[in-house]
Formats: sequence, structure tokens, C-alpha cells
Amino acid sequence: MQQRIELPLTPTQAADPAFVRQCALDHVGLESNAEASVRIVRRSIDARSRMPRMRLLVDVYHGEEPPLEGRFVDQMKQADPRKRVVIVGAGPAGYFAALELLEYGITPIVLERGKDVRARRRDLRSIQQDGVVDQHSNYCYGEGGAGTYSDGKLYTRSHKRGSIEKVLRLLVEHGATSDILVDAHPHIGSNKLWKVVQEIRETIISHGGEVHFGAFVNGFIVDRHADTKTLRGIRCADGREFHADATILATGHSARDIFARCMRDGITIEAKPFALGVRIEHPQSLIDEIQYHQSPRDINLPASAYSLVCQADGRGVFSFCMCPGGLIVPAATSPGEIVVNGMSMSRRDSPFANSGTVVAVEEQDWQTMGHGGVFGGLEFQAHVERTAFACNDDGSQRAPAQRLVDYIEGNVSSSLPRTSYIPGHVSIDMAEVLPAVIDERLRSGIRQFASQMRGYLTNEAVVVGVESRTSSPVRIPRNKETYEHVEVRRLYPSGEGAGYAGGIVSAALDGQNVAKAIAAHVFASS
Ligand SMILES: Cc1cc2nc3c(=O)[nH]c(=O)nc-3n(C[C@H](O)[C@H](O)[C@H](O)COP(=O)(O)OP(=O)(O)OC[C@H]3O[C@@H](n4cnc5c(N)ncnc54)[C@H](O)[C@@H]3O)c2cc1C
Repeated sequence: MQQRIELPLTPTQAADPAFVRQCALDHVGLESNAEASVRIVRRSIDARSRMPRMRLLVDVYHGEEPPLEGRFVDQMKQADPRKRVVIVGAGPAGYFAALELLEYGITPIVLERGKDVRARRRDLRSIQQDGVVDQHSNYCYGEGGAGTYSDGKLYTRSHKRGSIEKVLRLLVEHGATSDILVDAHPHIGSNKLWKVVQEIRETIISHGGEVHFGAFVNGFIVDRHADTKTLRGIRCADGREFHADATILATGHSARDIFARCMRDGITIEAKPFALGVRIEHPQSLIDEIQYHQSPRDINLPASAYSLVCQADGRGVFSFCMCPGGLIVPAATSPGEIVVNGMSMSRRDSPFANSGTVVAVEEQDWQTMGHGGVFGGLEFQAHVERTAFACNDDGSQRAPAQRLVDYIEGNVSSSLPRTSYIPGHVSIDMAEVLPAVIDERLRSGIRQFASQMRGYLTNEAVVVGVESRTSSPVRIPRNKETYEHVEVRRLYPSGEGAGYAGGIVSAALDGQNVAKAIAAHVFASS
């Protein structure tokens, strides 16, 4: 018999497996020595009362064994070299597409402009310490994509797009902790994620797939007959060509060069709304005090987070990609720009809590700044990033910054608090960096957040600019059912760069969906 029960426990009780088991058995009326299995299926935090509780959803099996779960890796086949799919980009969309193709015995050939996940770390150090941005190896580019040196948050609202559980289980099969299968807001952390990415590569290669690093794709091989365009393969900057039955383009939201190449080669792309703003960093202890009503927090409670949203002058203003116990990182992909983002380790134990705080941007916003056409949003985004860089007089990755209350009141901060952002800061009025369409709404949003969350608006918090790569400013349009590009046959845009995902899990789901569509439409008869 299986019984599902809910247990509200203190954080200390919930962290003790023996206590959880005893409590579950008591709850269903079984003796402590009963032959029963107890499985936690969901773990969430309820911080509404003054004493935060953990809510555990638990299955108790008595007189029957819990169901055995098969491994997805065991369903993968040795790839058939006659069935070839090129995947441009080794981010979550690209790698999960590759794993999915292996279930059909199709050979994935992954081409990645950056380096393997270990070699990539040296280049991250050089951005952090020397301000040197490598255009092919940085926080966005390289094996694992933008998701690797991140917070590794795996929470998504994309429930209708596929099986989130499959994505999470695949991550566990490649070395992630099984906690991600039960936590309501799962996350892995940068210190662990890179090993998972490396194991995924090993699975791809051991099943007959290929992964090529330093493979910067900058050309499409297109057959043109009458009105029909068919993509036959791609060309790399070093002259290598890869021909395939289908090509998945999963290059992420920062690959401006590939968007430009699409435009030059007559591959339709469209402008798309996105969001832009800043990162706001508070002391973690302050956020814990606000959310958990305690500081220091119970050692069995994770660093607390917040999620804020409001409307300001017709646009959404929202917190985005929060990294509790994390760091702000320089996420530029070219020299001459400042872009910030957030990451954290699995323990989320830094003394800082940072979150993107952004304003939705629409076509009319960038038009008011004189940017139009397909690349209007992209130009607007690039303009803000260059303006942020220009605040520096030394060409470094020092980011413009202002204390939060000073920002709201329009005062340049006479001093800045210690922050997690290693390259350092330039004290400035952020209004000089942010266009008015963003700045005014952001201030209004922050004032509203202050009324939603007492203690949020404080000069202990600092605003760091700019958070500009929230999602892609263009979309590569595709057919809703076949996932094929609307005009170019055998081209499959996927993931965040193509405008169909936002975040690690949704990009992974999109990669899987595209792979399934290719198996169904391109290889249906074989
Ligand atoms: C610092 C940081 C922290 C983040 N934290 C989180 C988080 O905690 N949780 C979350 O859900 N999301 C997070 N994100 C966002 C998340 O990483 C992305 O949404 C996700 O990685 C998108 O996946 P993707 O596969 O579509 O693209 P990407 O991950 O961007 O991968 C695209 C890949 O394509 C490669 N590429 C680009 N152009 C070419 C070319 N011409 N030739 C060959 N290869 C090319 C790139 O090098 C890259 O590896 C974070 C992002 C950053 C930058």
C-alpha cells in the first residue's frame, strides 16, 4: 500500500532522515520497526509564520516496494553515423537535444565556439582579475553555455513544454544531487554544475556523438532551388565544414554575430521584447531577517530569496534570476561592454544576496531612442552596455554602482559598500547609464518593492549595472509543430537565443522538443 502524507517540520527535524522516517510511520499508524519505505517527494519552505517550517510531501510504502525508476541513459542507443544532426552551441538546449537524439540512435555533432568546461575557468579568472574578455570563452560562451557558471537554479514555469522531471533526472544521472528531484526550488551551484556538464559530454561521445570545441560557426551552407532554401550544413571560421540532415541552432541570447550572419544570408529573424535593468545586492543576513524573521538563520535553512513584481507606467518591473548567497559576475561577451549577472556555489554561503531587477522593454521603447528594425532591441541593449563601460577610465570591468537609497533619491554615493563583484565599481548616478524609459520605471518599481518588502530599501544595498542579457532581443521564427525555420528547411532554431526559452531547464526542454521533432520529421521513414 502507498500513502502520501504531508509533514510540517522544523528545519532541524526535516534535516534528520531518521526523524522524518519515524514521523511518517507514526503519521500512518505503523510501528517504528515496520517493513516500510519512506520517500520524500517534495520539500518546500513555508516562511509565512515567524518560525519558518519545512513542508515535506512523503510517500510511505507498506507491503509493497516503491516503483523502480529506469535510467534515461540506458534508453540511449549507439548512434548511426548515417543519421547526422549538427548542433551549434553546447548550452543546455544543445546538450539536451544531443541526449534526446541518442534515444533515437541519431548522431549529434555538437559545435561549440568556446572551450571545454575546465579550460573555460581560466578565461573566467582573467575577466574577473584582469578585465580581459575573450570573445569565445566567457560567462556566456563555452561548454555548458551560459548556464554552467551560474547559480544553477532549475526552477521553471515551463510545465507545458515537456517533462521537467526528465531534465532533472538526466542531471542526476550525470552527477547532480538527487535533492533537485524533491526541492521546490532546486539548484545545483557552479562548483558542481561543471562536472555534470562534463559527464553529459562523456555520454554523448561514448554513444557515438561528437563534440568539437573552438568551432566558431560563421557560415550556413544553403541549397537554393526556386523558392526553396534548404540548409545542408554549416561552415566554421577556421574553414571546416559540417554537413548534416538537419542543423539545430542553439547559440544563446548573446550570439550577436550569428544573428548578423542570419540577416546577411537571408534567414528571417525578428525583433522581440526583452528586459533590462540592474543587479541589486543586499547583505544576505538582511534578506534572511526579512524573509525568515531571524538572523543568523537556522543552519538547516537555505539562504533566503525573494521574488518581486509590479507594474510601472505600463511595463512590468520584476526581480529576476536571484542568487541568494551568491556573487555578481562580469558576463560581457566582448571587450568594451559591461554586463552583470549572478552565480552561486551549491552551498549558497556568500554573505551577499543579489538579484536582477529589470524592466520589460518593448519596440516603442527602443524606437524612442532612435533604434529601429530587426536589430533595434539589440542595438538598444548594446548601447546601454557600452555606456556602462564608458563610465570607466581604465578600460577595466569595473561596473557602475550606486547605493540603493541614493539611486532612488538621485544622489551619487559618496562611498560604496563592500560587494561580491570582484572587478570593482565606479560610483555614479545610474541615471547616466540607464535610458529614461528604464530608469524612471525602475525607480518607481523599487519604491513599490519597498512597500511590499519592509527593509528592502536600504543604503546597505547597492545597485550594480547593467543587467542587460535577460533574454534574447531577437527571435528566429519557426513552425510551431515541426520546429523547422519558417523559410529555411532543415534549420531548427532552439533555446534562448532563438527566443524559445529563458533559463536552464526551459532551454533543455526546448532542445529535447526540437530533437524529437527532427526524429519525427527528418528521419521518420528510416
Ligand atoms: C552568469 C549567468 C547565470 C545564470 N543563472 C541561471 C540560473 O541560475 N538558472 C537558470 O535557469 N538560468 C540561468 N542563466 C540563464 C541560462 O544560463 C540560459 O537561459 C541558458 O543557458 C540558455 O541555454 P541555451 O542553450 O539556449 O543557450 P546558452 O546557454 O547561451 O548556450 C549557447 C552556446 O552556444 C555557443 N555559441 C554561440 N555562438 C556560437 C557560434 N557561432 N558557433 C558555435 N557555438 C556558438 C556559446 O558559446 C554557448 O555555449 C544564467 C546565465 C548567466 C550568464
